[in-house]
Amino acid sequence: QQNFDVNSVARNWRVDAKQTASPKELVDTLFARDVLTLDQLRARLSKSDFRKLQATAERGETLDASIADTVALAMKTWAMEKGATHYTHWFQPLTGSTAEKHDSFLNPAGDGVAIMSFSGKELIQAEPDASSFPSGGLRATFEARGYTAWDPSSPAFIVRHANGATLYIPSVFASWKGEALDLKTPLLRSVEALNKAVAPALELFGASEGTRVGSTLGAEQEYFLITEEYFYRRPDLIMTGRTLFGARPPRGQELEDHYFGAIPDRVLSFMTDAETQLYALGIPVKTRHNEVAPGQFEIAPIFEDSNIAADHQQLIMQVLRTTARKYGLVCLLHEKPFAGVNGSGKHCNWSMGTDHGENLLDPGDTPSENMQFLFFCAAVIKAVDDYQALLRACVASASNDWRLGANEAPPAILSVFLGDELTDIFERILSGEGGSSHSAGLMGLGSQVLPEIPVHAGDRNRTSPFAFTGNKFEFRAVGSSQSISFPVTVLNAIIAESVEQLTGELQGKLRSGADLAHAVTEVVRDTYKKHQRIVFNGDGYSEAWHQEAEKERGLLNLRTTLDAVEHLTDPKNLELFEKHGILNERELAARQEIMYDIYFKTVNIEGETTQYMAQTQILPAAVTYLGELGRAGESRAVQGISGEVTRLADELYDALDGLRTVNNDLGGEEVHEKAYHMRDRVLPAMHEVRAAADKLEGIMSFKHWPMPTYRQMLFVK
Ligand code: ADP
Ligand code: MG
Repeated sequence: QQNFDVNSVARNWRVDAKQTASPKELVDTLFARDVLTLDQLRARLSKSDFRKLQATAERGETLDASIADTVALAMKTWAMEKGATHYTHWFQPLTGSTAEKHDSFLNPAGDGVAIMSFSGKELIQAEPDASSFPSGGLRATFEARGYTAWDPSSPAFIVRHANGATLYIPSVFASWKGEALDLKTPLLRSVEALNKAVAPALELFGASEGTRVGSTLGAEQEYFLITEEYFYRRPDLIMTGRTLFGARPPRGQELEDHYFGAIPDRVLSFMTDAETQLYALGIPVKTRHNEVAPGQFEIAPIFEDSNIAADHQQLIMQVLRTTARKYGLVCLLHEKPFAGVNGSGKHCNWSMGTDHGENLLDPGDTPSENMQFLFFCAAVIKAVDDYQALLRACVASASNDWRLGANEAPPAILSVFLGDELTDIFERILSGEGGSSHSAGLMGLGSQVLPEIPVHAGDRNRTSPFAFTGNKFEFRAVGSSQSISFPVTVLNAIIAESVEQLTGELQGKLRSGADLAHAVTEVVRDTYKKHQRIVFNGDGYSEAWHQEAEKERGLLNLRTTLDAVEHLTDPKNLELFEKHGILNERELAARQEIMYDIYFKTVNIEGETTQYMAQTQILPAAVTYLGELGRAGESRAVQGISGEVTRLADELYDALDGLRTVNNDLGGEEVHEKAYHMRDRVLPAMHEVRAAADKLEGIMSFKHWPMPTYRQMLFVK
């Protein structure tokens, strides 16, 4: 029977639900159990070897190759104690997911004898068959080699499966010329660029020489869970990750009863299982709750160093996906699996911190901390304004287009939310008033007055794409299925550039004799004056904001992926990436090419799947139903329904014809021509097909509808 509700849904999911730990086990043995921490290595290496490794892991110094064999031996021993028989360089190709190729430690030693070995050379570098990864033209066929290389700054770990375990070695992936074929390499480069730009600024504020700065990141992951049986009956979910058909259910999210509601038992068991696995991997997951849409949930870890956070974020997605299946569920990470209800994002909470643990975006409570905070905060405001297009481009994808600007997701227009109090402070600096209307205490600092900053500056605003939330900025436009690596790379890059420029201004003023407080006040004032158009505390969903942003403020509104990706290689962005040593022209162009290509392929698959489902499932169902009606006598009801179904089936048939035509034409040879064809011809044709089909769903017999409906998928738990 095609259309069950709950008959097989209540599968006995409890049998597998064994992944739990007592609170004591959690802290004593479970957390980071499967991670090769520096502490573990310290115990296994000589003091001098460990110091050399630590210099690389913690301060980014080049690895001393002479210790590679010793480190490899220590890693292998640890991994084998954990049951690992294989190792893999684990990397992030430009597809946005992760890649791995496992090699066994086992090596024959002659005469039927085998040993387990792992050399320094194997640890440091591997050569996967690179030709099947997208390179955007970076790797012509004659130079098809690509290399993975160990990233010692992110710890290796074990992944277990039913029959053993594998040692995972976080790695970068580059062409033989050293050009980045992955997402991790530029992220690492951007962290270095940020350090280079921010450390000198910090020294002006009195930081000790040699202080290192990095970026910190906490990514909140939203996702949907649906019952596995339903998933299998939806070719669209299987092929594209989203529903290409589906009439609105009688009830959507309007009751607002799901958000922060009680978590269903099966879901909570799933969450606990996933978290237990993530703890073992040393991932500090902290928060879980229901999200706004029915069937939507969120998981969030505590922030970490951004390179490690990016690796951990990939593991979170992987563990959510695989664990859901044990509970008869499927985890949908797509940005918009269901039309008409909320989409899923991945809020990237970003800040900068020193190796002494100081958060540079924490307002602090002394005047000098305030000064420093205002300086860096101004730099962030400037960066977002200067690089609106780049920020939009780094979150651009066919799937995120459905989310940005629709149903409670931030608009495609970039703006910064500061909150009333912080805005007030900037406004007062601008007007020369100083102080803050919110606090009585003013701090006299020369003739000008720097304001005191309230401890909890930053109220809440869900509608802003880029919000200050007390001690960090939250970039909310990032898509739920996306790797955070590129968005974080962009944040690091644009803020490095912005800080560098403002530091130059500050130094100029100091050289001409100004004291620090005056100089900072002036720089902050000038910066805010120039960039205040990007600050917006109102409702980002409103039509009024779209008008104001474009017409009055001149902000960019790059609605679709293709509008945004076009800007990726703007001279200004190229200059940014080249200057800071993050991406060269070829590397940037390659990324643009791949974004066009992925966009094209994504929509192409959706177009084909829409055609397939309409042709082979929905039309036949309508025809069968009509046949049944034809045998049902001649009542007014029968005639009425037959007439309506006939009319809609014809509408669907015609729309399908239109879709078939555009599906059979790729729109050109070049990848961007194909991408535009998909956006401008295929998507509208898909829309027509869906519109007719969704109307049919509303009048046809439920029994004949050939796939699970929104009502079932979203509400049967
Ligand atoms: P909110 O409710 O304001 O979003 P949460 O406490 O839920 O705040 O934090 C959201 C995310 O922001 C978490 O992952 C948290 O660890 C992260 N976060 C907090 N401080 C920082 C920071 N200094 N840098 C980066 N991320 C941070
Ligand atoms: Mg948040």
